[in-house]
Amino acid sequence: MSVLSAAYFHDEAAAYAELEATLWPNGPVCPRCGGMERITKVKGGRMGLYRCGPCKRQFTVKVGTVFESSHVPLHQWLQAVYLMCSSKKGISSHQLMRVLDVQYKTAWFMTHRIREAMTAGNLPPIGGAGEVVEIDETFIGQKREKPKNARGYAHKHAVLTLVQRGGSSRSFHVDGTKAADLLPIIKANVHPETSVMTDEAGQYVTLGKHFTEHDFVRHGKGEYGRGETHTNTVEGFYSVFKRGMKGVYQHCSEKHLHRYVAEFDFRYNNRVKLGVDDEKRTYNALRGVVGKRLTYRRSNASA
Ligand SMILES: [Zn+2]
Repeated sequence: MSVLSAAYFHDEAAAYAELEATLWPNGPVCPRCGGMERITKVKGGRMGLYRCGPCKRQFTVKVGTVFESSHVPLHQWLQAVYLMCSSKKGISSHQLMRVLDVQYKTAWFMTHRIREAMTAGNLPPIGGAGEVVEIDETFIGQKREKPKNARGYAHKHAVLTLVQRGGSSRSFHVDGTKAADLLPIIKANVHPETSVMTDEAGQYVTLGKHFTEHDFVRHGKGEYGRGETHTNTVEGFYSVFKRGMKGVYQHCSEKHLHRYVAEFDFRYNNRVKLGVDDEKRTYNALRGVVGKRLTYRRSNASA
Protein backbone atom coordinates (compact mmCIF):
# COMPACT_ATOMS: atom_id res chain seq x y z
CA MET A 1 0.00 0.00 0.00
CA SER A 2 1.23 3.46 -0.81
CA VAL A 3 2.54 5.47 2.12
CA LEU A 4 0.46 8.38 0.89
CA SER A 5 -2.79 6.46 1.32
CA ALA A 6 -2.56 6.72 5.13
CA ALA A 7 -5.77 8.31 6.47
CA TYR A 8 -3.95 11.14 8.26
CA PHE A 9 -2.79 12.52 4.92
CA HIS A 10 -6.41 12.92 3.76
CA ASP A 11 -8.73 13.10 6.71
CA GLU A 12 -8.58 15.99 9.17
CA ALA A 13 -9.82 14.02 12.19
CA ALA A 14 -7.26 11.29 11.49
CA ALA A 15 -4.55 13.94 11.17
CA TYR A 16 -5.41 15.36 14.60
CA ALA A 17 -5.47 11.86 16.09
CA GLU A 18 -2.04 11.16 14.57
CA LEU A 19 -0.48 14.36 15.89
CA GLU A 20 -2.07 13.83 19.32
CA ALA A 21 -0.66 10.29 19.48
CA THR A 22 2.78 11.63 18.52
CA LEU A 23 2.95 14.65 20.84
CA TRP A 24 0.82 13.29 23.67
CA PRO A 25 1.75 9.60 23.98
CA ASN A 26 0.25 9.53 27.50
CA GLY A 27 -2.85 11.60 26.77
CA PRO A 28 -3.63 15.32 26.36
CA VAL A 29 -1.45 17.84 28.20
CA CYS A 30 -2.72 21.35 29.01
CA PRO A 31 -0.39 23.91 27.38
CA ARG A 32 -1.10 26.46 30.10
CA CYS A 33 -0.65 24.53 33.37
CA GLY A 34 1.02 21.36 32.05
CA GLY A 35 -1.63 19.28 33.78
CA MET A 36 -3.06 15.99 32.53
CA GLU A 37 -5.89 15.60 35.04
CA ARG A 38 -9.52 16.31 34.30
CA ILE A 39 -9.00 17.13 30.66
CA THR A 40 -12.17 16.62 28.66
CA LYS A 41 -13.04 16.78 24.99
CA VAL A 42 -15.24 19.77 24.20
CA LYS A 43 -18.44 18.38 22.73
CA GLY A 44 -19.59 20.16 19.61
CA GLY A 45 -16.44 22.33 19.63
CA ARG A 46 -14.04 22.67 16.73
CA MET A 47 -11.78 19.83 15.69
CA GLY A 48 -9.58 18.43 18.43
CA LEU A 49 -10.69 20.88 21.10
CA TYR A 50 -10.03 20.00 24.76
CA ARG A 51 -10.70 21.77 28.01
CA CYS A 52 -8.52 21.69 31.10
CA GLY A 53 -10.67 21.34 34.24
CA PRO A 54 -8.29 22.99 36.76
CA CYS A 55 -7.37 26.07 34.67
CA LYS A 56 -10.36 26.12 32.31
CA ARG A 57 -8.16 26.69 29.27
CA GLN A 58 -9.43 25.33 25.95
CA PHE A 59 -6.80 24.05 23.56
CA THR A 60 -5.96 21.74 20.67
CA VAL A 61 -2.78 19.80 20.00
CA LYS A 62 -1.65 22.59 17.66
CA VAL A 63 -1.26 25.15 20.47
CA GLY A 64 2.40 26.06 20.95
CA THR A 65 3.54 24.26 17.80
CA VAL A 66 4.59 25.53 14.38
CA PHE A 67 1.07 24.60 13.18
CA GLU A 68 -0.67 27.00 15.55
CA SER A 69 -2.99 29.57 13.96
CA SER A 70 -2.29 28.31 10.45
CA HIS A 71 -5.30 28.13 8.12
CA VAL A 72 -3.81 25.17 6.29
CA PRO A 73 -5.57 21.93 7.27
CA LEU A 74 -3.45 19.68 9.47
CA HIS A 75 -3.60 16.75 7.03
CA GLN A 76 -1.93 18.96 4.42
CA TRP A 77 0.73 19.96 6.94
CA LEU A 78 1.44 16.28 7.49
CA GLN A 79 1.80 15.78 3.73
CA ALA A 80 4.30 18.66 3.63
CA VAL A 81 6.32 17.31 6.57
CA TYR A 82 6.46 13.89 4.94
CA LEU A 83 7.60 15.32 1.59
CA MET A 84 10.37 17.38 3.19
CA CYS A 85 11.54 14.46 5.28
CA SER A 86 11.50 11.85 2.52
CA SER A 87 13.23 13.85 -0.23
CA LYS A 88 16.95 13.49 0.20
CA LYS A 89 17.68 16.99 -1.04
CA GLY A 90 14.49 18.61 0.20
CA ILE A 91 11.56 20.09 -1.65
CA SER A 92 11.24 23.67 -2.86
CA SER A 93 8.39 25.98 -1.90
CA HIS A 94 7.42 26.09 -5.58
CA GLN A 95 7.07 22.35 -5.78
CA LEU A 96 5.16 22.23 -2.52
CA MET A 97 2.85 24.93 -3.86
CA ARG A 98 2.04 22.75 -6.87
CA VAL A 99 1.67 19.49 -4.94
CA LEU A 100 -0.58 20.95 -2.21
CA ASP A 101 -2.32 23.42 -4.53
CA VAL A 102 -1.74 26.35 -2.17
CA GLN A 103 -0.41 29.86 -2.78
CA TYR A 104 3.33 30.35 -3.01
CA LYS A 105 3.40 32.48 0.12
CA THR A 106 1.67 29.72 2.05
CA ALA A 107 4.05 27.06 0.74
CA TRP A 108 7.04 29.25 1.57
CA PHE A 109 5.79 29.78 5.10
CA MET A 110 5.15 26.05 5.54
CA THR A 111 8.63 25.02 4.43
CA HIS A 112 10.20 27.52 6.80
CA ARG A 113 8.08 26.35 9.71
CA ILE A 114 8.96 22.73 9.00
CA ARG A 115 12.64 23.67 8.88
CA GLU A 116 12.17 25.26 12.28
CA ALA A 117 10.74 21.94 13.53
CA MET A 118 13.88 20.23 12.20
CA THR A 119 16.18 22.58 14.12
CA ALA A 120 17.87 20.94 17.06
CA GLY A 121 18.09 22.79 20.36
CA ASN A 122 21.20 23.11 22.48
CA LEU A 123 22.98 19.81 22.20
CA PRO A 124 26.04 18.49 24.03
CA PRO A 125 29.31 18.46 22.02
CA ILE A 126 29.89 15.71 19.46
CA GLY A 127 33.00 13.53 19.38
CA GLY A 128 34.79 12.29 22.49
CA ALA A 129 37.55 9.78 23.27
CA GLY A 130 38.19 7.46 20.32
CA GLU A 131 35.90 9.45 18.03
CA VAL A 132 36.83 11.32 14.87
CA VAL A 133 35.21 14.61 13.85
CA GLU A 134 35.84 16.01 10.40
CA ILE A 135 35.69 19.77 9.99
CA ASP A 136 35.39 21.72 6.76
CA GLU A 137 33.81 24.81 5.33
CA THR A 138 32.04 25.50 2.08
CA PHE A 139 30.68 28.49 0.20
CA ILE A 140 27.20 28.81 -1.10
CA GLY A 141 24.93 31.19 -2.97
CA GLN A 142 25.79 34.78 -3.45
CA LYS A 143 25.53 37.75 -1.19
CA ARG A 144 23.25 40.42 -2.61
CA GLU A 145 25.91 42.20 -4.57
CA LYS A 146 29.04 40.73 -5.95
CA PRO A 147 31.63 43.48 -5.87
CA LYS A 148 33.42 44.19 -9.12
CA ASN A 149 36.68 42.30 -9.42
CA ALA A 150 35.59 40.08 -6.53
CA ARG A 151 38.11 37.38 -5.93
CA GLY A 152 37.92 34.19 -3.95
CA TYR A 153 34.84 33.54 -1.88
CA ALA A 154 34.35 36.92 -0.22
CA HIS A 155 31.02 37.42 -2.02
CA LYS A 156 29.59 34.06 -1.02
CA HIS A 157 28.05 32.77 2.21
CA ALA A 158 30.28 30.58 4.32
CA VAL A 159 29.04 27.43 6.03
CA LEU A 160 31.05 25.48 8.61
CA THR A 161 30.25 21.79 9.15
CA LEU A 162 31.43 19.37 11.85
CA VAL A 163 30.70 15.69 11.21
CA GLN A 164 31.41 12.84 13.57
CA ARG A 165 32.31 9.70 11.60
CA GLY A 166 29.44 7.26 11.93
CA GLY A 167 27.51 9.93 13.83
CA SER A 168 25.90 13.29 13.40
CA SER A 169 26.62 16.56 11.67
CA ARG A 170 26.35 20.17 12.79
CA SER A 171 26.43 23.03 10.36
CA PHE A 172 26.61 26.76 10.90
CA HIS A 173 26.24 29.81 8.73
CA VAL A 174 29.39 31.75 9.68
CA ASP A 175 30.46 35.33 9.12
CA GLY A 176 33.77 34.31 7.62
CA THR A 177 36.36 31.56 7.62
CA LYS A 178 39.10 33.08 9.73
CA ALA A 179 40.17 31.20 12.84
CA ALA A 180 38.36 33.83 14.93
CA ASP A 181 35.09 33.01 13.14
CA LEU A 182 35.43 29.25 13.38
CA LEU A 183 37.36 28.34 16.52
CA PRO A 184 34.75 29.41 19.12
CA ILE A 185 32.07 27.33 17.34
CA ILE A 186 34.34 24.31 16.97
CA LYS A 187 35.38 24.44 20.64
CA ALA A 188 31.78 24.77 21.81
CA ASN A 189 30.54 21.86 19.70
CA VAL A 190 33.34 19.28 19.69
CA HIS A 191 34.49 17.40 22.78
CA PRO A 192 38.16 18.14 23.61
CA GLU A 193 39.13 14.44 23.64
CA THR A 194 38.24 14.09 19.96
CA SER A 195 40.59 13.45 17.02
CA VAL A 196 39.81 16.19 14.56
CA MET A 197 40.47 16.05 10.80
CA THR A 198 40.64 19.05 8.49
CA ASP A 199 42.39 20.14 5.35
CA GLU A 200 45.61 22.14 5.56
CA ALA A 201 43.87 25.54 5.69
CA GLY A 202 45.58 28.10 7.92
CA GLN A 203 42.56 28.70 10.15
CA TYR A 204 42.89 25.17 11.49
CA VAL A 205 46.58 25.11 12.42
CA THR A 206 45.97 25.70 16.13
CA LEU A 207 43.37 22.94 16.55
CA GLY A 208 45.98 20.56 17.97
CA LYS A 209 46.13 22.74 21.09
CA HIS A 210 42.43 22.24 21.82
CA PHE A 211 41.88 18.60 20.88
CA THR A 212 43.54 15.26 21.58
CA GLU A 213 44.72 14.99 18.01
CA HIS A 214 44.62 17.07 14.87
CA ASP A 215 45.48 15.59 11.52
CA PHE A 216 45.04 17.16 8.11
CA VAL A 217 44.91 16.35 4.43
CA ARG A 218 47.09 18.32 2.06
CA HIS A 219 44.64 19.02 -0.72
CA GLY A 220 47.11 21.52 -2.15
CA LYS A 221 49.50 18.66 -2.83
CA GLY A 222 46.79 16.67 -4.58
CA GLU A 223 46.30 14.46 -1.56
CA TYR A 224 42.88 13.04 -0.79
CA GLY A 225 43.73 11.11 2.31
CA ARG A 226 46.11 8.63 3.94
CA GLY A 227 44.35 5.78 5.70
CA GLU A 228 42.25 7.27 8.45
CA THR A 229 43.40 10.77 7.62
CA HIS A 230 40.74 12.11 5.29
CA THR A 231 37.75 14.41 5.17
CA ASN A 232 35.59 12.26 2.91
CA THR A 233 32.68 12.20 5.36
CA VAL A 234 32.22 15.95 5.54
CA GLU A 235 32.80 16.21 1.79
CA GLY A 236 30.02 13.65 1.26
CA PHE A 237 27.73 15.76 3.42
CA TYR A 238 28.56 18.82 1.33
CA SER A 239 27.89 17.04 -1.94
CA VAL A 240 24.26 16.42 -0.89
CA PHE A 241 24.00 19.89 0.63
CA LYS A 242 25.34 21.67 -2.44
CA ARG A 243 23.28 19.68 -4.92
CA GLY A 244 20.21 20.36 -2.81
CA MET A 245 20.91 24.05 -2.40
CA LYS A 246 21.64 24.48 -6.10
CA GLY A 247 18.92 22.32 -7.54
CA VAL A 248 16.09 22.83 -5.09
CA TYR A 249 16.68 26.08 -3.29
CA GLN A 250 17.98 28.43 -5.89
CA HIS A 251 17.23 31.64 -4.09
CA CYS A 252 18.19 31.38 -0.48
CA SER A 253 18.69 34.69 1.23
CA GLU A 254 21.29 35.13 3.91
CA LYS A 255 18.82 35.57 6.74
CA HIS A 256 17.26 32.14 6.12
CA LEU A 257 20.43 30.18 5.43
CA HIS A 258 20.70 28.92 9.01
CA ARG A 259 17.34 27.16 8.56
CA TYR A 260 18.32 25.46 5.31
CA VAL A 261 21.52 24.32 6.96
CA ALA A 262 19.48 22.88 9.86
CA GLU A 263 17.30 21.02 7.38
CA PHE A 264 20.28 19.25 5.80
CA ASP A 265 21.72 18.43 9.22
CA PHE A 266 18.36 17.02 10.27
CA ARG A 267 18.12 14.64 7.32
CA TYR A 268 21.76 13.61 7.73
CA ASN A 269 21.24 12.91 11.43
CA ASN A 270 18.09 10.93 10.67
CA ARG A 271 19.54 8.92 7.80
CA VAL A 272 18.89 5.36 6.70
CA LYS A 273 22.39 4.26 7.77
CA LEU A 274 21.46 5.17 11.34
CA GLY A 275 18.29 3.08 11.05
CA VAL A 276 15.90 5.97 10.37
CA ASP A 277 13.49 5.42 7.47
CA ASP A 278 11.20 8.02 5.87
CA GLU A 279 8.39 7.35 8.30
CA LYS A 280 10.57 7.53 11.42
CA ARG A 281 12.19 10.69 10.09
CA THR A 282 8.76 12.26 9.63
CA TYR A 283 7.81 11.45 13.23
CA ASN A 284 11.11 12.83 14.47
CA ALA A 285 10.35 16.09 12.65
CA LEU A 286 6.83 16.10 14.08
CA ARG A 287 8.19 15.78 17.61
CA GLY A 288 10.19 18.93 16.89
CA VAL A 289 7.15 21.11 16.18
CA VAL A 290 6.60 21.91 19.85
CA GLY A 291 7.71 25.22 21.30
CA LYS A 292 8.69 26.67 17.95
CA ARG A 293 5.72 28.73 17.03
CA LEU A 294 6.84 31.00 14.26
CA THR A 295 4.79 33.91 13.07
CA TYR A 296 4.92 35.23 9.56
CA ARG A 297 6.69 38.35 10.72
CA ARG A 298 9.31 36.45 12.64
CA SER A 299 10.18 34.09 9.83
CA ASN A 300 10.42 37.04 7.50
CA ALA A 301 12.53 39.05 9.89
CA SER A 302 16.08 38.19 10.73
CA ALA A 303 15.12 35.67 13.40
ZN1 LIG B 1 -4.57 23.64 32.53
